[in-house]
Amino acid sequence: MQVHRLTVASIQFTNPQVFLLELQAYAGDPPQPGQFFEFKIGEGFDPLLWRPMSVMDAWSDRLLFLTQLRGRGTQWLAQRSEGDMIEILGPLGRGFPIPEEPVTLVAGGTGVAPLYFLARRHPDRVQKLIAGFATSPGQLLLDRFYALPVPVILTTEDGSLGLPGTVLDVPDLQDRPLVYLCGPGGMIRRFQELGFEGWMSLEDVMGCGTGLCFGCAAWHRKEQRYVRTCVEGPAFPLQDVESLLF
Ligand SMILES: Cc1cc2nc3c(=O)[nH]c(=O)nc-3n(C[C@H](O)[C@H](O)[C@H](O)COP(=O)(O)OP(=O)(O)OC[C@H]3O[C@@H](n4cnc5c(N)ncnc54)[C@H](O)[C@@H]3O)c2cc1C
Repeated sequence: MQVHRLTVASIQFTNPQVFLLELQAYAGDPPQPGQFFEFKIGEGFDPLLWRPMSVMDAWSDRLLFLTQLRGRGTQWLAQRSEGDMIEILGPLGRGFPIPEEPVTLVAGGTGVAPLYFLARRHPDRVQKLIAGFATSPGQLLLDRFYALPVPVILTTEDGSLGLPGTVLDVPDLQDRPLVYLCGPGGMIRRFQELGFEGWMSLEDVMGCGTGLCFGCAAWHRKEQRYVRTCVEGPAFPLQDVESLLF
């Protein structure tokens, strides 16, 4: 685990709420799909807590992130410009295991980032990517999705792109394929309730990101104990762990 001082290579909004952030001059361990970095926000110690972001793609000295505007931290990130310096810590957590057989990737919103990374790294282990959004995520992102070497199915809740509705309306899921999931809490819970099997990445709120604060504790049903999403996860077997937040 190491702090890296990286330079903003580019920052591009894909729609008014979502942006791609590419950082350069990375010289740390290669991140695995599902691993994340903690981002230092602002100057000094306010805000104190760094903000976690999953890796969307990685090259030898570059990292790509996909970020949704939410509050103070993501607003600060969105205001960076090319050439600015950003401090990040990582790679952190345990990512997804490489699937032994082809799996269906199911993403909600920016939860698509680690699954896109998995599809780029291991296309032979991916049947398709199903990604759902509230509204169209924007052409920049669509261009990346359609360049993936796996079939991509998109849904939007407002019907502006792909199938109208949510990922659960996609007929391909009726046969209950093995899934790798990442997305909002409500989506993960629904897949658990429906009895799907596979893996999920729990992008819950997180405190320190390094296992010290227990702010991201989740309940491990099988082992009957609390686990820290930041170090034992964020990738967990889908039916084994339940978030305390949704
Ligand atoms: C592993 C992981 C990967 C993620 N990957 C992505 C990604 O790829 N793209 C993306 O858009 N989002 C991702 N997120 C969500 C992202 O981290 C949040 O949207 C972001 O931190 C919001 O920060 P903010 O300051 O903009 O929002 P705000 O809502 O203003 O801030 C969130 C606040 O909650 C605080 N907080 C965090 N954890 C706790 C806690 N346990 N108890 C109390 N307060 C807490 C934070 O410190 C912060 O002050 C990921 C989250 C996790 C855990």
